[in-house]
Amino acid sequence: MEKLGLNEIRERYLSFFESKGHLRLPSFPLVPQNDNSLLLINAGMAPLKAYFTGKETPPHTRVTTCQKCIRTPDIERVGKTSRHGTFFEMLGNFSFGDYFKHEATAWAWEFITKEMKIPVDKLWVSVYQEDDEAEDIWVNEVGVSKDRIVRLGKEDNFWEIGVGPCGPCSEIYFDRGIENGCGEPSCAVGCDCDRFVEFWNLVFTQFDKDEQGNYNRLAKPNIDTGMGMERLAAIMQDVNNLFEVDTVRNIMMHICKIAGVTYEQDEKTDVSLRVITDHIRGTTFMISDGIIPSNEGRGYILRRLLRRAARHGKLIGINEPFLYKVVETVVKENGSAYSELVEKADYIKRVVRTEEENFDKTIDQGLEILNQYISEIKKQGKNKLAGENAFKLYDTYGFPIDLTLEIAQENKIEVDIEGFNAYMEEQRTRARAARSEGETAGWGDEIYDQLDKTPTEFIGYDNTECVSRVLYIVKENQLCENVHEGEEAIVILDKTVFYGESGGQIGDIGTLVGGCKAQVFATQKLANGKILHNVKITNGYLEVGDSITAKIDTDYRNRITRNHSATHLLQRALRDVLGSHVAQSGSLVTDIRARFDFTHFSPLTSEEIIAVEDAVNNAILNSLNVDISNKSIKEAKEMGAMALFGEKYGKEVRVVKMGDYSLELCGGCHIKNTAQIGLFKIISETGVAAGVRRIEAVTGLSLLKIIRDADKTINELAQTLKSSPQAIISRAQGFVEDLRQANREIDILRSKLAGGSVDEIISDAQIVKGVSVISARIDGFDIADLQNMGDKIRDKIANCIVILATVKDDKIGFIAMATSEAVKSGIHCGNIIREVAKVAGGGGGGKPDSAQAGGKDITKVDSALEKAVEIIKFNLN
Ligand code: ATP
Ligand code: MG
Repeated sequence: MEKLGLNEIRERYLSFFESKGHLRLPSFPLVPQNDNSLLLINAGMAPLKAYFTGKETPPHTRVTTCQKCIRTPDIERVGKTSRHGTFFEMLGNFSFGDYFKHEATAWAWEFITKEMKIPVDKLWVSVYQEDDEAEDIWVNEVGVSKDRIVRLGKEDNFWEIGVGPCGPCSEIYFDRGIENGCGEPSCAVGCDCDRFVEFWNLVFTQFDKDEQGNYNRLAKPNIDTGMGMERLAAIMQDVNNLFEVDTVRNIMMHICKIAGVTYEQDEKTDVSLRVITDHIRGTTFMISDGIIPSNEGRGYILRRLLRRAARHGKLIGINEPFLYKVVETVVKENGSAYSELVEKADYIKRVVRTEEENFDKTIDQGLEILNQYISEIKKQGKNKLAGENAFKLYDTYGFPIDLTLEIAQENKIEVDIEGFNAYMEEQRTRARAARSEGETAGWGDEIYDQLDKTPTEFIGYDNTECVSRVLYIVKENQLCENVHEGEEAIVILDKTVFYGESGGQIGDIGTLVGGCKAQVFATQKLANGKILHNVKITNGYLEVGDSITAKIDTDYRNRITRNHSATHLLQRALRDVLGSHVAQSGSLVTDIRARFDFTHFSPLTSEEIIAVEDAVNNAILNSLNVDISNKSIKEAKEMGAMALFGEKYGKEVRVVKMGDYSLELCGGCHIKNTAQIGLFKIISETGVAAGVRRIEAVTGLSLLKIIRDADKTINELAQTLKSSPQAIISRAQGFVEDLRQANREIDILRSKLAGGSVDEIISDAQIVKGVSVISARIDGFDIADLQNMGDKIRDKIANCIVILATVKDDKIGFIAMATSEAVKSGIHCGNIIREVAKVAGGGGGGKPDSAQAGGKDITKVDSALEKAVEIIKFNLN
């Protein structure tokens, strides 16, 4: 066998299948496109599902890919088995109703035995127990020895998910030798140990399972194969596990260097090294595909992986952020195949670093809380941490459950893991419900699945009205023939000028006029391209087959397009001002404003905001022509288009170019020249998630309205201040100064008043064992006033203790002051005031000769003072 590097193996595989007539497609992003059933792509076929089900037409009937995959269900096995990662790359060849078992098996065998030259005596094949056809082909056509074929049951060798396309599989295994096995006598192909490594799975999608559970043979069966590239590389490079494969090992070595440890010295350390290596690979790819750490969905998976890696870092003695440094090696090792890593390297590092720093804080905070729980449990003589508390640590503080378990164990405390799981399940159910609500949002998708798949022809880029035919009417989630005056319905036309909400641009409004008149109050677009007009019939009635004139509200549309075009200019300006890490992460363009979310780390300074506004307005004033054209992906890339993310390869893309300033792929509506935007202003800049900022901006007449509103406020303010708009600031400053002066006078008057009160208070003094005890309540004063009074009293009376209380604005204040003689007689103001404040539900303290406190219960002020006198009497010796 030739010792091939991982990157070479990828190339050899893809070109092998190209030579067999396959179209090579680049890896799809890890984030599924138009597929809510999956959080992350977990197999080569996942992003191709629509081609298998027939929902979409593939660009070619034979396709080959190397797909980046994430499989979190394997997380516990990572680092422990030789063959599992949560991240790996899957090589695959696919047939959409083209070739079937004969070719799939023959080519697979040819690739591994001729191209890769893996010795046949190391290979095993499994087939589904009922798939005689497959065994026959392997033995009689491909030439695999019959005693190297095993039959496995449905669990291992039948692929299905619910109803739909499914079928038997056939897997290819490599025998790593008895020394790598579990040693059990029953050990054979299919055993979960590390001897027989499954590295290629050929799925023969030959059935369509219906609702009744019948397996109906497909007229045109498909092929879906998946081979773990790292597993193949481990075989080719004759290494023990997939972390020792060339590129992966280099990442692990970087971690060893940071930790100052050596691989293969200690098994526990090795597991941690492999876990970190795996997780940093996966997370680097996830971030490059636009995922950011959060507490939900994909963002949560990312966070979990990063935190788990950080924690394993701590286990091997790394106590500061380090993963972001390892990102560099991940980028270096994979950059040649995945240019997005190189482009976004700085950004990825920043996301990782921020998350590491946050986690450090979390760990400290979480530890503190967990220790509180533990000491409480011990105090109560119990030995179990409640599931609720474990969940709280996890949910509120991001404290990983395995860490909780570990620390609890160290303290000989159990964790109610069932309770914890119940809380988790509850949370998941909530999340799921929230997701599905968001997905269908009143559109009851299923009904549209019954319709023909032809997209509605959209001719609204250049037209504002057209004559169309009514194809379908949906009323209360049911297809129907007509809809009457006063009723609402969803109408589908053969063609339309109404833009259906998509790509962050809201849908048009307008009218449908024929035999009836209908207001279109919203327009949506289905994933399959059908455009849905939400209408209310205001006159007459509408019937399927009617011919009507569809007309959009052009004023509304113009306001939207101004805002939409402005977001393109904004994106360019942000990249110029802040840096090339800025990438769009969402947008919403309406008739009122443009909202634009983008990746960036800190709030924008006011200088940056001004610089961005200036740049956009310059582009507007330069009246740049907006050119829109359809191009192939290749041409668009050559023109310098960014964000080719998840675009359907092979298809044409729509390129929107504004002078030489902005170039974006976009399906939305735009103005003809940037000057039509008028003027642009940012009205808010906020954070929406870690590393994501949001700008809201207005253009054109909306901006005029904002200026007018601001003018109105200023004018009203001027009137209220009896001033002119030009003079309001100095006028307001004058008021502030007057107020300050007035307050100063109030202070002087109050202290005079206090001086007067002092004599009155003194006259009420009681003498206890030679010490004058003075206590009084004087409401409406501050603590500082009381202290002033206390000082004055001490100056007047030689041997005294003063306790004063005040209630002001519902707050209680106490002070105590004593002369040195009184202190000598046993008085300690700090101790006294503490007891006194307690009576009024408060606390405080201080020195023997002076102290102060607060309180909460106003009704207890008098009894607190009485208590003071009692304590003083008791303490005096
Ligand atoms: P296993 O039983 O070993 O977990 P699987 O049956 O889950 O594998 P498939 O779903 O058939 O695997 O995926 C196809 C191929 O992808 C496998 O043959 C294997 O080479 C690779 N693969 C699957 N899971 C992983 C993983 N966690 N890490 C690396 N490669 C994997
Ligand atoms: Mg598996």
